[in-house]
Parts: sequence; C-alpha cells; structure tokens
Amino acid sequence: MTRVTTDIFISGAGIAGLSAAIALARAGFRVTLADPAPPPQTQDAAEADLRSTAFLQPARALLEEAGVWPALAPHATPLETLRVIDLSGDPPEARTERAFQASDLSEAAFGWNLPNWLTRKVLTEAAGETTGLDLRLGTGFAGILTREREALVTLGDGMRLSARLAIAADGRASPLREAAGIGVDTARYGQKALAFAVRHETPHRNVSTELYHEGGAFVLVPLPDHDGQPASAVVWMQDGHEALRLAALDDAAFGVEATRRSAGCLGHLHPITARAVWPVVTQRAQRMTAQRTALIAEAAHVLPPIGAQGLNTSLADVRALVDLARDTPASIGETPFLNSFAKARERDIAARARVIDAYNRLCRSDAPPLQALRSQGLKLVHDIAPLRRGIMRAGLGR
Ligand SMILES: Cc1cc2nc3c(=O)[nH]c(=O)nc-3n(C[C@H](O)[C@H](O)[C@H](O)COP(=O)(O)OP(=O)(O)OC[C@H]3O[C@@H](n4cnc5c(N)ncnc54)[C@H](O)[C@@H]3O)c2cc1C
Repeated sequence: MTRVTTDIFISGAGIAGLSAAIALARAGFRVTLADPAPPPQTQDAAEADLRSTAFLQPARALLEEAGVWPALAPHATPLETLRVIDLSGDPPEARTERAFQASDLSEAAFGWNLPNWLTRKVLTEAAGETTGLDLRLGTGFAGILTREREALVTLGDGMRLSARLAIAADGRASPLREAAGIGVDTARYGQKALAFAVRHETPHRNVSTELYHEGGAFVLVPLPDHDGQPASAVVWMQDGHEALRLAALDDAAFGVEATRRSAGCLGHLHPITARAVWPVVTQRAQRMTAQRTALIAEAAHVLPPIGAQGLNTSLADVRALVDLARDTPASIGETPFLNSFAKARERDIAARARVIDAYNRLCRSDAPPLQALRSQGLKLVHDIAPLRRGIMRAGLGR
C-alpha cells in the first residue's frame, strides 16, 4: 500500500481528538484522524458515553473558534450557579451550604453542560465536513516509527502515513503513548465514579449541585428536560465495593439510594439511563512528548471527576497546540515545537492534579477533623469575597 503524506496524524476521535483535528484543519493543516470506534448515535446505544461535560468558558471559546459551537449550543444547558453542600450523619443532612454565582465574576455562565455521546456525535459530523481533515473511523493506530523529520504511522487496516507530528488523543490507555515508550504514574483512591442521568421533581433552575460526604462527591449537573420533567446528569463517587453494589441495584432501589445520598435536594431522583462505572485515578504521563509525538487529554493526564476539570484541561492542551502550530507552522513536530508545548502545559496540569488530588482526599474522608476542615473551608472560601472570586477564576481556568 502506498504511503500517504499528511501534516498531522491524530490517534483517537474522542472529544479531545475531534476538537484538535477540527481546529488544526481550520488553521490550514492537513490532518488525518483515526479511531476504531465510530460514535454511538443515541444515548441508549451500548457503547454510549453516559458522562456529561460542563464546558467552561475557555473551552467554549475554543469550540467557537473551531466553528462547532453553533451546532452544540442548542443542546447545552448553562450553569449559572454552583451550590456546594457539605453533608454529615446517616441519613445525610446538610451541615454547611453555600452558593457560588457566575454573575459574581461576569455576565457569562460558569459553563455549559452537554452529554458526552451527543458532543462526540456532533463533532464527528462537523469533522466529516471540515476541509483538509481526513476522518478514518473503523480503523485505529497500530504502530509508529519516528525519525528526525517524520513520524511513520501504520493504521489497523494497513494504511501507512508520513506525518510531521503525531498526536496521541487515544485515551487513558493510549496505544500511541505506549508505542512511544512513555510510562505513566498513577495514584489510586479505592474509589469508583458512577455516571448516569436522572429526572427529578424539583426544577434545577440551571444550578449545579455538589454534595460532599464520606466516600466522595455526589454532583448533579443540569440537563434539558426529559419527557417534560427536569433532568440532571449525576456523577456519584464512592468507595469501590459500595459503588459496585449500587451499580447492581434495580432502578427503583437505586433511585431510593441516590435520593438519600442527595439529601433530597431535588426531590426524588428517578434514573433515566444505564449506569457507567469509572475507576477514579490521578494519572500522568511521565513525559508529554517523544520524537515527532505529542500527548494530549487523557493520554497525558487523568483527573478525578471533580470541579469539571478533566476535559477542560484537555481542551487547554488543544488550545496550546493550535496556538503554537499557528504561530510556527513550519516547525510543527520539531523538537523546539514539542518542548514549547510541554512547557506551556506541564505546570498547569501539575497544579490542577495536585489541587484535585488533595480536594478529593479531603472530600471523601470520614475522619471528624477532616470533615470539620471541609465544612470550615467551604465557609471560608465562600464568605471572603476576594478569595471566593480568586478560586472561582482559577477553577474556570482564567
Ligand atoms: C465520571 C466522570 C465524569 C466526568 N465529568 C467531567 C466534567 O464534567 N468535565 C470535564 O471537563 N471532564 C469530565 N470528566 C473527564 C472527561 O470525561 C474525560 O477527560 C474525557 O471524556 C476523555 O476524553 P479523551 O478524548 O481524552 O478520551 P476518550 O473519550 O477516552 O477518547 C479516546 C478515544 O481513543 C480511541 N482509541 C482507542 N484506541 C485507539 C487506537 N488504537 N487508535 C485510535 N483511536 C483509539 C477510543 O475509541 C476513543 O474514542 C469526567 C470523567 C469521569 C470519569
């Protein structure tokens, strides 16, 4: 088979890989994007990603620049208020409650929530229509050989490519990262996250609610109405065994447990999707680059699902790559280009990983002194206005 020449090869058409491919093609580069798994077309499909993502302001700006926001916007629910509730006791009851308003910082919402399966479907359709983007679904990255001037990539269907830059966006078990010989450091917490959606009696009024109790966070993020009733996406972090027990319950019993854990803050919760179970880890690649290769998104970093940081940090990787490629188009994939990319991202990723790791340990603890610290910390962070605004800005990546 003859070898195809391209500027950039991207392994993985998840949300990060698709966003990078569209943005780089629109910046004038020839891009080939491959993924063995085409996107599911409905929420009920077996492989559908049941998580949702709150796209924070910088992520929305990137998607706007890539020209895909108008197609996503009709499905997005704005997050105008973040309510944080610290629970104690059994059954759990609110001990401290504070609300953070987006209007405290600007007129814009904190973020816009979208189901992952739908975002991936919309981005895939946009990628298929983007000039300069060769989208190859149903075949994936199979091997790489790099030289000073190029990356020689082989796909599962035997296709061979020569690219100036290979980007790994192929997830937490990234085959391209492994082929590049880059290891990972992983911290485990013995926790799992259940991801699902519910309908509920009380309207969410575009408020995202985070409830903290031993075992971890329980987060309700607003979705559009479901069959005329208010609905929310939920991430429920729990100790691993308990999460597996909960995941195995029937819908009625699970709804009772979820309502109890939410301290009834939105009335009774009725599950409307299946439940996905995700291991909770902090994982970082030991390097973000290798010869002619850059890692982005979960191939480079996995964070516990708190504070809507995971995919937003990934889109910050995409932003850095696109800006560098636009500024120095002739040097993409060369060592100074890759060094600049790593330098632009490493400090931010390390800082976010440290803060979220510490926050998760604090939030899941059942030790009374740490519980008291959690409750007092929430009051302190909220009630001192400059501190509150500073933390909100940092959380938004601004
Ligand atoms: C429960 C939960 C809730 C979350 N909530 C949020 C949130 O609110 N906000 C937020 O910002 N983040 C959130 N995150 C994080 C976010 O969901 C992930 O960061 C994101 O989905 C990962 O995207 P990705 O594109 O890096 O990887 P993936 O979505 O895993 O995509 C990787 C792609 O690579 C493909 N692939 C695999 N092998 C190959 C191969 N050989 N060749 C080519 N392609 C290949 C796969 O098919 C897949 O499509 C959450 C995470 C969890 C666990």
